Amino acid sequence: MSSAGGRFDELLERLGAVSDLERALFLLGWDEETKMPRGGAVARAEQRATLARIAHELGTAPELGELLEELRGFETENAPESFEASVIRVTRRDYEKERRIPSALRAEMTRAASLGYRGWLEAREARDYELFRPHLERRIELTRQYVACHEPYEDPYDVLLDDHEPNMRTVEVEAVFDRLRDGLVRLVAGFGEPVDDSCLYGDFPPERQRAFAREMLARWGMDDDAWRLDDTVHPFATSIAHTDIRLTTRLFPDNVTGILSCLHEFGHGLYERQVDPRYFRTPLASGASSAFHESQSRLWENVVGRALSTWQFFYPRLQEMFPERLANVPVEEFHRALNRVAPSTVRVEADEVTYSLHVILRFELEREMLAGAVTPADLPEAFDAKVRDYLGVVPADVVDGVLQDVHWSDSSFGYFPTYALGNVISIQLWDRLSQDLGDLDSEFERGEFGSLREWLGENVHRWGRTFEPPELLERAAGGPLDPEPYLRYLEEKVEKLYPGATGRR
Ligand code: ZN
Repeated sequence: MSSAGGRFDELLERLGAVSDLERALFLLGWDEETKMPRGGAVARAEQRATLARIAHELGTAPELGELLEELRGFETENAPESFEASVIRVTRRDYEKERRIPSALRAEMTRAASLGYRGWLEAREARDYELFRPHLERRIELTRQYVACHEPYEDPYDVLLDDHEPNMRTVEVEAVFDRLRDGLVRLVAGFGEPVDDSCLYGDFPPERQRAFAREMLARWGMDDDAWRLDDTVHPFATSIAHTDIRLTTRLFPDNVTGILSCLHEFGHGLYERQVDPRYFRTPLASGASSAFHESQSRLWENVVGRALSTWQFFYPRLQEMFPERLANVPVEEFHRALNRVAPSTVRVEADEVTYSLHVILRFELEREMLAGAVTPADLPEAFDAKVRDYLGVVPADVVDGVLQDVHWSDSSFGYFPTYALGNVISIQLWDRLSQDLGDLDSEFERGEFGSLREWLGENVHRWGRTFEPPELLERAAGGPLDPEPYLRYLEEKVEKLYPGATGRR
């Protein structure tokens, strides 16, 4: 035991170094998207590539493999959900996967991500897709090389999906999405005349929106000791440590909807904030999967952040900060505006009902690009065609269309589906926690969010990557992945806004 314990400590030391490099990479990425002057792009791409290569080398060192072999007995001596067994199991999974990737390819993928991000920004600025196309071509080429490292596989997309949803298969996603797409397209067809949401638009100075968002998130559990909120082009959250959470946002002077993106990123931040501190500097110190992460952001953004009870507490303060715009708008009207559903072209601004359709069409396009059925040259047209088919609207131009998302520039394929899976999981968790905690609305009306935060911490967050997503879902929500509760939730929502709509479809 003592010698195995010593070897385990040695493992922790090695993992700590890998984790330090990875978190330093997160910090460079955060800086790149919030503070870095444009001129830093090329240097930053090299810096990130170098750090990624060293992290990859440490994380795939033969000595690490030997340690993992020696610790097989120690792993089984400990209960599967124990810290020790979990660290060894998750490290072995990462090790075996990462070892398939040559360091040079890992570094090249990281470099291409930095340059691709810059290319995406330039293309958006010039409203010219052609400036981005070479970057996308390079990405697809590298993605194919990456996929090839993982042979044999049933579906090339399985490899990419597995990076975000451990062990999830493309066919499983397809089954959930087929059901969702059918249900949602029918719901969208039944929409009545959209509710008036003009109260969300007008003169909303960003500094005051930022101050309001900070107050609201402080009430939800964001403290200045461990969190930051900064501006960016495409909002995201990242965690340098569980005591150093970075949220980013984009606030617009002519509308107040940017506050919702703060609420969204808070959900991601809280997950990282509430992971068991013991997991610090180990591979367990993160969310179970991207879909689980997204379930948390969507839960805070949509289920809590669009609830009438939540705004009964916060709205008077919002009115106080924007008296010219909101003094004469009752909270019920503001709440209805926040919950407006209507097809639109931009995913991040989409309402809850149409949101998953945006995701499903991107999932389909990624698979088609990977298979070569859609080439980067065809993409703008293919993108617009799907938006038209599923949502009945047409993007005004490429910024509104194919260039709207950052993901095809700097992240890997396989990420988009996790957004819609996150929606599905968020409602499964919500149904379960509502059973456990009873009526939360009366707490929200009083500005109390502690019991929700604690339930999530206890049942989901603290476990980090200890459990694979299906097991965590079973433990926390009491069942397997199931789109039906989510569809029911949306039907009720639409029915409330447009009485009779769900019967008409
Ligand atoms: Zn998110």
